[in-house]
Amino acid sequence: MKEAALEEMGLLPVWKRRVFEEKKLEEAVSGLMGWDEIRTAIESCTACPLSKGRNKVVVGVGNRQADWLFIGEAPGAEEDIKGEPFVGQAGKLLDNMLSSIGLSRQSNVYIANTVKCRPPGNRNPEPSEMAACRPYLVRQIELIEPKLIVVMGRVAAQSVLDSEASISALRGKVHAFGKIPAIVTYHPAYLLRNPSDKAKAWEDLRFALKTMEPLR
Ligand code: SF4
Repeated sequence: MKEAALEEMGLLPVWKRRVFEEKKLEEAVSGLMGWDEIRTAIESCTACPLSKGRNKVVVGVGNRQADWLFIGEAPGAEEDIKGEPFVGQAGKLLDNMLSSIGLSRQSNVYIANTVKCRPPGNRNPEPSEMAACRPYLVRQIELIEPKLIVVMGRVAAQSVLDSEASISALRGKVHAFGKIPAIVTYHPAYLLRNPSDKAKAWEDLRFALKTMEPLR
């Protein structure tokens, strides 16, 4: 209550104001009941600087009751235009990876990002931006109730799992997001630049399938 009073008077220090704003967003989002409200809130969200450069927000795509949730880091240029995650070459590769283990965004997977607005110049989202956007992702996860989360890429993995470990240290282990098991693999955009690591990504997908088996 004291913070609220200071906020009203505009007397909170900048860092504390940011924490306070994130807390307020978390409280607001946790009170949101459904997908329509989440989309509406994201479309008008100005909780971090990424709101300034976005064309379209990228909420997510796929089956909202899927057992599988794949999480990447941020929308890129094509995603920002279309309002859908993982389109373009990285999207095609992801679709092929999903297909190789019997999954598809049209039927049994949901795909989202840690931030819903495109970082300028396709830079990595800042930790503060991912923290600001986290309440939306948390609410999406609450609604989907996936059995397994697959986090793609170092930036998303470190944010979702609240870790500073390298991707090679995070791969091949079962982590947790709350009570939901989570595993880590490479981001498809990274694999396009480093095709020799595709074999490791295939190992990760087989590991994901094995992890999912007892959860079904
Ligand atoms: S990235 Fe997330 S927190 Fe930042 S403005 Fe977009 S919706 Fe809001």
